[in-house]
Amino acid sequence: MRRHARARIDLGALRHNLARVRAAAPGARVMAAIKADAYGHGMLRVAEALHAADGFALACVAEGVALRDAGFAHPIVLLQGVRDADELRAAADKGIGICVHQPHHLRLLEITSLKKPVKVWLKIDTGMHRLGIPAEETAETFRALANNPNVAGKPCLMTHFARADEQGDTTTREQIAVFDRAVEGLDGKQSLANSAGILAWPDSHRDWVRPGIMLYGGSPFAHRPARELDLRPAMTLTAPLIAIRELKQGDPVGYGGTWTCPEDMRVGAVAIGYGDGYPRHAPSGTPVAVRGQRTQLVGRVSMDVVTIDLRGIDAEIGDPVELWGGQVPMDEVAIAAGTISYELTCSVGPFVHVTVDAGNP
Ligand SMILES: *Cc1c(COP(=O)(O)O)cnc(C)c1O
Repeated sequence: MRRHARARIDLGALRHNLARVRAAAPGARVMAAIKADAYGHGMLRVAEALHAADGFALACVAEGVALRDAGFAHPIVLLQGVRDADELRAAADKGIGICVHQPHHLRLLEITSLKKPVKVWLKIDTGMHRLGIPAEETAETFRALANNPNVAGKPCLMTHFARADEQGDTTTREQIAVFDRAVEGLDGKQSLANSAGILAWPDSHRDWVRPGIMLYGGSPFAHRPARELDLRPAMTLTAPLIAIRELKQGDPVGYGGTWTCPEDMRVGAVAIGYGDGYPRHAPSGTPVAVRGQRTQLVGRVSMDVVTIDLRGIDAEIGDPVELWGGQVPMDEVAIAAGTISYELTCSVGPFVHVTVDAGNP
């Protein structure tokens, strides 16, 4: 069942953004993060568009198996690692790399018999305190893994940044220093940078970079627009204008009557809502565009409908209204709604009709 909202995925934009990663981190191999259905853009179509990437980062085993079964031979790494011996065997059988980030993983690798060894990415906690082994245990763990017959070759050494998007902050510099001390003398490949690291912390590029949001055209920085970074939006979300109302000064609009017409005016109703993944918390004033003209939401987002300000706007019923994309940067919508672009595209629901723009080859 498809509803009226449409997400157009621009494969040319994905390829352009991959080229931006290569230009920003020359010499590094690119592990494209396509977890969570490629941030809502469709894992297989994105992997196909980004075939020139050097590998793919996913969260869990089911995603990795789906990618392998679709015929992708690239290196794949599961950022969450595996939960149990069955998952470990499934990953090893499919030639899928795993993150090792806790003692449980080391035990699994010792007690499970595998048909072939598995590629390991050793995740070190350098200060984010989410996943990873303590930095001071790196050398010992690396050696244990390197000597484990279940492990293919030398583990790749990796960490993840908590605040690489905050350019004035010193945390990232400290995380890099903790990493460098932890891995001193260990001859594994290294991987630190997410999108923010790629764009703002050249010292973090090393052997493998792991871009996510910048591939989809989102800025990793709250205060730097994607356009300034020469990133192109990979998703344009639109929905049709289904009604135009002539309302009177003082008329409240939508649930709770949170917005009142300041004058006699036209208000449009657009066939999209939080049931499609548009954020319910987007307030009055959140930008939208119709026929190339920017306007804004008025009143609360409902499940299937949003209402927009049509004062001074040339529009007719049936016109597509852009919620985000080339005219309305998703980062602006995210900031208005108190979230991040990652959440916006990930939330685009299964009822949204997806079309694909192949772009220039
Ligand atoms: C999701 C993820 C990335 C990509 O991050 P972006 O901010 O989207 O570039 C990189 N590394 C890890 C470990 C991740 O979980």
